[in-house]
Amino acid sequence: MPWDEKFECMPVEELRKFQLEKLKETVAWAYEKVPFYRKKLDEKGIQAGDIQKLEDVSKLPVTVKNDLRDNYPFKLCAVPMKDVVRVHASSGTTGKPITGPYTAEDLDQWTECMARNFHAAGVRSDDVIQNAYGYGLFTGGLGFHQGAGRIGATVVPTSSGMTERQISLMQDFGATVLCCTPSYALTIAERAEEMGVDMHKLPVRVGIFGAEPWTVQMRQEIEDRLGIKAMEAFGLTELGGPGVSYDCKEQNGLHINEDHYLAEVVDPDTFEPVPEGEKGELIFTSLQRRAMPMIRYRTKDITRLHREACPCGRTFVRMEKLSGRTDDMLIISGVNIFPSQIESLLLDIPEVEPQYVLVVRKKGYLDHLTVRVEARREVYDAGPEKEAEVERKIADHLKGHIGINIRVRLVEPKLIARSEGKAKRILDERPKE
Ligand code: ADP
Ligand code: ZN
Repeated sequence: MPWDEKFECMPVEELRKFQLEKLKETVAWAYEKVPFYRKKLDEKGIQAGDIQKLEDVSKLPVTVKNDLRDNYPFKLCAVPMKDVVRVHASSGTTGKPITGPYTAEDLDQWTECMARNFHAAGVRSDDVIQNAYGYGLFTGGLGFHQGAGRIGATVVPTSSGMTERQISLMQDFGATVLCCTPSYALTIAERAEEMGVDMHKLPVRVGIFGAEPWTVQMRQEIEDRLGIKAMEAFGLTELGGPGVSYDCKEQNGLHINEDHYLAEVVDPDTFEPVPEGEKGELIFTSLQRRAMPMIRYRTKDITRLHREACPCGRTFVRMEKLSGRTDDMLIISGVNIFPSQIESLLLDIPEVEPQYVLVVRKKGYLDHLTVRVEARREVYDAGPEKEAEVERKIADHLKGHIGINIRVRLVEPKLIARSEGKAKRILDERPKE
């Protein structure tokens, strides 16, 4: 039985009616309270009253990350500051951060969404949850913290980093659940191996990982090395953080909390909806958020939606595990490549560690890609000939699947910086325009 059967298993027709009502309310709320939206809606000549059916959402203007930056910090906020009880912000690695204000009600709904996520992963009140997502402005730490509290589990709020201490605490407190980014889970697995701690012997049995892309192959690697079941969480600051979607035990796509988020998949160039079941860019409209209603936010994340019934009984639509973001797509020798494609192919090669970076440089007019990946100790110790052989093997494997020649460079073990949060997979050395 899901955490919130009423909504998670709501008959689809009823759910759509609920969504339509909330969509109208959200548009009316945004129009009334946020000058940015009023202007955009007026420009399009559309108002809440014009929304007759859910599909009419495509008539609304889209919102992009730059709109949030331009309105930094609180110009998209729909309530007076006295009603804002929390502010989060994204990491802001690519410019000014973007902010996410919450009312008390927003926080409560977010917490519920995260409780659904934990419950779907099989977490219950007798679990001990080590939460190694970063605490602070990042939505990961507190988002997971609140959801775990709502479930009634014991929370160990370690935040990210200090990996040895993470491992000792897992031993001492007997964590049964680990929450962090997938790349940090791998860092923990590796450090435990170095410390001679056998994670398979610890009580930890499930992980809830998210906040960055990771392939099914990486999921398997993490499961094998930590001896756990790896479940997933997805979300973004613009929509309140994690809790937008989560996988169930079927692990066949992430159920979107559709009573809170209306999802569309569009062609990233034309914004036209793609035919049902095809890949495109995810767009979300928040349906119940008060402090920062979000209309048609372009996530840049690429996926497809599955509407068929899920054996778990949840009726929420499922989004396929993300294959990439439009802004991480590389065009090499005319071929579109996502880092996730390279990741899944690298994980087929037993001679390397799952630690890699993609270096992009400019050669003449063309972009040039080098894959740097860590050799396993035995390969590195065997010397340059062995290394060259493994490099050739990887390059052939990449060519066989992607169709182009990609340079591969093995690097020595432990050379690539270990992630404690979101891993940086692309090193862009192209000159800035
Ligand atoms: P920032 O933009 O600073 O990275 P966010 O934490 O808001 O801050 O990042 C949200 C983005 O993280 C999403 O749009 C998506 O690209 C990525 N993301 C989050 N969860 C997942 C996941 N489970 N799988 C793949 N990517 C994810
Ligand atoms: Zn399901």
